[in-house]
Amino acid sequence: MMKKIPGYELVVIDDKNGKVCYLHNNFRYHFASSSSQKTIYRCAYYQSIYQCKVKLWKTRDGKVTVVGGEHHHDDAKNAREVAAMKIEMKKQACSTHDFPSRIIHEVERNHPIARRCISILASNSYIRRKRDEIGRPKEPATLEELANTLETNEEMKDVVKSNYRGIVHPEGENAGCALLFVHDDMLEEFNTAKIIEIDETMKAVPTTPEGTQIWIISV
Ligand SMILES: [Zn+2]
Repeated sequence: MMKKIPGYELVVIDDKNGKVCYLHNNFRYHFASSSSQKTIYRCAYYQSIYQCKVKLWKTRDGKVTVVGGEHHHDDAKNAREVAAMKIEMKKQACSTHDFPSRIIHEVERNHPIARRCISILASNSYIRRKRDEIGRPKEPATLEELANTLETNEEMKDVVKSNYRGIVHPEGENAGCALLFVHDDMLEEFNTAKIIEIDETMKAVPTTPEGTQIWIISV
């Protein structure tokens, strides 16, 4: 059922569930909130894959204003590209350990239309949820937490394999710890080596969790 509201640019329609929504320039809006100044309607595609941010403001005097940019969900090609972009982000979430911002930056370059339809916040959440789903651990806050993750998380155990040998702490009251990594072949080499060299770097250490030094032992 459609009914033009006298004095308004909106057409009120009943959807199949008997709820009232509004049609404006062929886009459908649902009631969102109301204050003493205005009533706000959200695009019907807000809760869809597009998360359309377009809103209608209807002030007390009946004036209707469209805010929040443009609708980008009105053709099938867009829908296909949005779906493809989501798949690509999820794929990279599983196959890489990159930061979400890097994945989003990479994927957006291949999907110029879809990037306007998916917010950064939504993209971040797709990547995080996918990683949660496959059991990817959260970023550890401390080296102790990292050590625990390397020992208990199945995916991380697979990444470091038997190269991770455990965590060591200094004796006595001294703070700090070190995570030990070594390959079996290197242990063999150490056993027979005439000279063992030690090198250190303070540059290539993680900031989260905070590291101070990587100590490299080589033959
Ligand atoms: Zn919309």
